[in-house]
Amino acid sequence: MSKSLQAIRGMNDILPEQTPLWRYFESTVAGLLDNYGYRQIRMPIVEFTELFKRSIGEVTDIVEKEMYTFADRNGDSLTLRPEGTAACVRAVLEHGITGGGQVQKLWYIGPMFRHERPQKGRYRQFHQIGVEVFNLDGPDIDAELIALTWRLWGQLGIRDAVKLELNSLGTSEARGRYRDALVSYLNERIELLDEDSKRRLTSNPLRILDTKVQQTQALLIDAPKLADYLDEESRLHFDGLKARLDAAGIPYVINPKLVRGLDYYSKTVFEWVTDKLGAQGTVCAGGRYDGLVEQMGGKPTTGVGFAMGIERLILMLETLEQIPESIARQVDVYLCAFGEQAELAGLTLTERLRDALPNLRLQVNAGAGSFKSQFKKADKSGALYALILGDDELAQQVVGFKPLRGQGEQQNIAWDALAEHLATCVVQG
Ligand code: ATP
Ligand code: MG
Repeated sequence: MSKSLQAIRGMNDILPEQTPLWRYFESTVAGLLDNYGYRQIRMPIVEFTELFKRSIGEVTDIVEKEMYTFADRNGDSLTLRPEGTAACVRAVLEHGITGGGQVQKLWYIGPMFRHERPQKGRYRQFHQIGVEVFNLDGPDIDAELIALTWRLWGQLGIRDAVKLELNSLGTSEARGRYRDALVSYLNERIELLDEDSKRRLTSNPLRILDTKVQQTQALLIDAPKLADYLDEESRLHFDGLKARLDAAGIPYVINPKLVRGLDYYSKTVFEWVTDKLGAQGTVCAGGRYDGLVEQMGGKPTTGVGFAMGIERLILMLETLEQIPESIARQVDVYLCAFGEQAELAGLTLTERLRDALPNLRLQVNAGAGSFKSQFKKADKSGALYALILGDDELAQQVVGFKPLRGQGEQQNIAWDALAEHLATCVVQG
């Protein structure tokens, strides 16, 4: 195939075989968020580049090398959003809906774009569901966000395969003091640092903590610990969160090296990780960002949120075979009609059935065809029953009602009795 007719590397089509699982996943999450009182917000996919530079931070992987940035026709620099928090903060500020301490509990869903190396669980266009809460600053809301995701894993049947990692980054002042201590410790051993970490020592030293380089990891064993630099307020907040998770019976591990890739976090950070997906093990990540709104030009407004990667969670459902039976079947009943008169009567009949049974998944054969070919299509559709309409049935005002999955014999049913009959034998989804 010529190159221009292929999708862009790392940007995937989601084919009809896969969309039922996506829709099941999305509606499960949406239902749960509704029940917890979160409201959906929809932001544009493109924003001014400046928005992401200001919020995510200039010296992060995302801003340094992963953004899809281009000039608009008038010369403005625009960027395809790499994440949702920045745009969500921009939106609440622009519309003044967090002013005067108004609480907002929001969620969004949609594609995000990052120029990364595509591999299993890592794409250039990927999808997230994100949640952001504004103007609630206690550990109770951090705990609710975690409880909500924990419940979701339960509903999806993947709870046993994920683990919660937790850390506190403290206030930005506490983190500043810790950063100084870490930098001076590492500066004394700079000849042992890998190149990437050397670079980060001046740009974003905390990121060195989650290095994959073994020699640097060894060096970090005796380095100053962030936990020892936590301010009193952050420690109380963290204790409050842990107490709530303990009370709710939600297991977690403290990971002192969890720092998250974005600059804007403070206090709580967390990740849900799995060992079922290879290297791309984080399925959901988030934390508190109490300074972000002010940094972006708003009044002081606390925030906390998370985002989950839909592709990775879909991969989890597939890997763990947690795909509900009900979504595999798309069709309940398939109508086969033979001859023009039967087709005409079939249309009237099926439209009446749709009136009577709005949830009935009813597919009408299109394109005519022989007995054999129509039955083959009926079978392939996955339908439980075929309805048969030929000259004989037409004359008697009945349909042939044929079970396709071995649930009894074929019988004739009068048109008037058909809706009632289907209501009893087709499970309504
Ligand atoms: P990672 O460490 O895997 O690169 P991240 O810290 O960059 O993740 P976040 O910015 O926190 O990711 O995004 C939240 C979630 O979105 C991640 O936990 C992951 O599930 C998903 N995600 C992030 N980047 C990608 C990607 N390129 N492809 C697919 N999913 C992604
Ligand atoms: Mg990343």
